[in-house]
Amino acid sequence: MTIADTDRRNDAEKLLGALLEALGDDAIDLRLFDPDSPEFGGFLKTSWSELETSEFVASTPVPPGFVYRLTPTGWVEALVRRGFLDDEHIKDRLASLAAALKRKVKGRVVSAVVDLDTLARESRIPTGWIFNAVDSRLLNRVHRRRDAFWLGGGRGRLVVVPTDFGMTQIDLFEDIRSQNEQLREELAAVKDEISGYRCPHCSAELSSRNDIDLDEHTIGTVQSFECGYTTVDGCLESPCPSDPRFPTLEDFELRTTCNANPLIPNDQWWICSAVGKTPMAMKVRVPSASGRTDAEARERVIENYKRISKP
Ligand SMILES: [Zn+2]
Repeated sequence: MTIADTDRRNDAEKLLGALLEALGDDAIDLRLFDPDSPEFGGFLKTSWSELETSEFVASTPVPPGFVYRLTPTGWVEALVRRGFLDDEHIKDRLASLAAALKRKVKGRVVSAVVDLDTLARESRIPTGWIFNAVDSRLLNRVHRRRDAFWLGGGRGRLVVVPTDFGMTQIDLFEDIRSQNEQLREELAAVKDEISGYRCPHCSAELSSRNDIDLDEHTIGTVQSFECGYTTVDGCLESPCPSDPRFPTLEDFELRTTCNANPLIPNDQWWICSAVGKTPMAMKVRVPSASGRTDAEARERVIENYKRISKP
């Protein structure tokens, strides 16, 4: 028995819709679909290969058969076929995502980088859905606007938001030279961004970047570098040892206290802590230390100072 072409096409199209339904708000790179599972039992086996030929799904061998994942193109195609442009829920999500991305570059002259989880928190959209939107460059496809993209091609971690995000895009793709130009600009933007992510004193790399609640209404970005240099919204929180303003040992008062164990006669020890005397010294935390004598405790704190002040 042969199956008419139109039936086959309909079946493939329905399968694509079923995959989108099963995916829900998960990221397309995480969900594997097994053609042998009961939920897809009603579809023709050939539909899977038809979707793969159209590059809507990609197969991975998992013996004894194959499992499939939706591709970014397949995800958009499935949305389009479901009539998502008329779907208020999806339109709201697109608008929230665009607004969250736009906020990242507002008032900036270089592009911004934001991690996926932060974006999800700020836009209140599930991470998986944002992953799919960025991966398929959905905003660009829908609005022909400059879209965000993965930093360094690393899917799912950091999103680069170009400074001209959201600006109407002239159809650069008509001309391959223009396309190269655009790629070069994106590359330059990423390079700018990366150099902006180094300690200005010693070029140490950024080790973490997090948003924290400064108070009820304000969110601040904490950036910490390998050398210890830390800023909150660009303001110095902890200086780099290579910063000429880094406090000297004399900027600290070494306070010692004597402690005794009341249960054991003559059992006593000293604890020394370094207390900053200048505003800069107050930003540096020198670990406290203990010793059998006052001098020993002091010596250990001085060692601690030398360790953290070494560039
Ligand atoms: Zn540094």
